[in-house]
Order: sequence, then C-alpha cells, then structure tokens
Amino acid sequence: MKAVQFSEHGDRDVIEYDEFPDPTPDRDEVLVDVKAGALNHLDVWTRKGLPGLDLDMPHVPGSDAAGVVLEVGEDVTRFEPGDRVAVSAGVYCGKCEFCRDGEYSLCVNYHIIGEHVRGVHGERAAVPEDNLVEVPTGVEWETAAAAPLVFQTAWRMLLNRGDLDAGEKVLVLGASGGVGHAAVQIADYAGAEVYATASSDEKLSYAEEVGADYTINYDANDFAAEIRELTGKRGVDMVVDHVGAATYPDSIKSLAKGGRVVTCGATTGPNPGASLNRIFWNQLSVIGSTMANPGEVDDVLELVWDGTFEPRIRETLPMSETASAHELLEEREGFGKVVVVPDSEYDG
Ligand SMILES: [Zn+2]
Repeated sequence: MKAVQFSEHGDRDVIEYDEFPDPTPDRDEVLVDVKAGALNHLDVWTRKGLPGLDLDMPHVPGSDAAGVVLEVGEDVTRFEPGDRVAVSAGVYCGKCEFCRDGEYSLCVNYHIIGEHVRGVHGERAAVPEDNLVEVPTGVEWETAAAAPLVFQTAWRMLLNRGDLDAGEKVLVLGASGGVGHAAVQIADYAGAEVYATASSDEKLSYAEEVGADYTINYDANDFAAEIRELTGKRGVDMVVDHVGAATYPDSIKSLAKGGRVVTCGATTGPNPGASLNRIFWNQLSVIGSTMANPGEVDDVLELVWDGTFEPRIRETLPMSETASAHELLEEREGFGKVVVVPDSEYDG
C-alpha cells in the first residue's frame, strides 16, 4: 500500500508518499480502509522531532482518519467489515490507577497514534478497537476525519477541566486553528459569551459565523487591553490557550478575579514567566488538559455527527501533497482543518 512516511526528522522535504508494508491487524485491532485523514499541529512536531521521541523509522504519521473496516482481529467485538469508523488517537493501558479510575487521558502509559506509534495516513491502517468510533451513514469522510482530535481536546478543556458554566465569558485564542475553532463552537453551545482572537479580519468573520460574540485581531491590537475594554475592565472567566509562551502573559492579564487559563499546547514555547504575583493576588488557576476520555469523545462526536458542531475544512489535498498540508499549518493560513486523502481516492 501507499503511505505518508518519513525516515528522519527534519524539514517538510523529509515527507514522502510511497510504498509501505501492508498492515496486519493484531487480535485487538481493526484494519481500516482509509478514506480521509486530517492534519494537526502534532504532525508538524512529530516530523520535526521532539525531545524523548524515539520512533521506529520509517514513521507513518497521522492521528486523525476515517474509513471503512476491512478486517477485524479475533478479539474485536464492536466492529465488523463494512462498518464506517473514525480514529480517536489517545491510547491508554486500561490497567493503571488512573485508567481504573476512568481517567484514561491521565494514563501513565498514555500515547498518541501518529505521534508515539505508527499513524494512520496511508491507504490502510491497523488500529486498536478501543481507538475507533462508529461514524453514521451520511457523515462526510472529511468531517469524520477532521473532528476527533480537536473536538475531543476542546470539549475536555472547556467542560471538564475548565468546568465552563453558561453565562461565563470565555476568550479563545487562535480561533482559526483546529482546536480554536472547535473551542468557539463548544463555548457557544455551552451558553458562554465568546471572545475570539485571530490574525486577520477574514478569519474573525469565520469565528463570528461559528459562534464568537466578540472578535479581536491580535495582529492589530493588544488582546489583553481589548478584553479589558470590552468587559468594562473586568476580564474574562476563562482563557483557552494552545499558543504558549507568546500569549500566556496576556492570557493571565485578560482574566477576571478567580479566572482560569486552560492550556492544551505550547506551540510558541513552553516556558513563559509564571506571573505568580497575579496568580495569587487574583486567585487565578492555570489548568492543563490533554485529549479526552472515551465517554467525552463519544459525547462530542455525537454532536459533530448530528451537525451541531462543524469542523471547517480549509483544504483537501492528496496524501502525496502532505508537505504542502504542513506548510498550510505552519503558515497559519486559512480557517479550520487540512484534510488529506489517499491519492487513489482523490478526485480534486
Ligand atoms: Zn492506564
């Protein structure tokens, strides 16, 4: 079969689309005929290499995909050939103290398909049964591939870790990105007053379309000052931050007393100044969040399948153009998700 792959970490030119040995499913795995995959920033990090990341090379990347079940391992009970499925990339052991407590995304052996182990951006992929969800007939493959990682991440950030209540004010940074545009929709659905930042007026009008009440162009304005102004100096109850060092100081400044920053990423760097003075005096919380539990994944994807939430597709490319997909992510162009489909399935 053909698969996206790289044999060493590096720039975008290490990415190839070439022959790869056909995957065979283990007892607890399902062989999926991949119809579409979606990119995440994680794919860029994995390609570049992360400290402590030691991959079997060549590595097939990709954490999000959807397709049709071709074959199931002998222990698989929930799926059979012909079923429509999407991948939910968080792998947990099911045995550690956190898993036993139902907190699967805290698993001590937690890892992510495509980041730590072989991913799903090929014509076929063998995926553990526990990492598949059913996709109803009628849901587009692009939608099914684009939703799982970012919508589960935003859902847990806002509703579980952030404990968002209706009527609260939420600021979503980078609202044009995958997690950002999911967070705007979920915050709006939860009844919050949604403030969103993006780098262009075009992206901001998209953010308004999907639920933002107030928008701030962060290229033209200091967003913390704008938030003070828009909220009558009060600040917001929650900031959703996946940007990291570049935004964290202003995220803290944007909070009302007793507010919280919820973070799921640090694209611009992991070590901003902590602002402990503001944290203790204003009684703020800084909360981490990663992926989600299977029940949360089911809950949020149900709302994607029924059309309540919509992953926006900014571009669909053949898998052989995955390097261009990385470029779109790295240049932060457009709004929403970049989808890749096997070249044999691509119809332009
Ligand atoms: Zn575990």
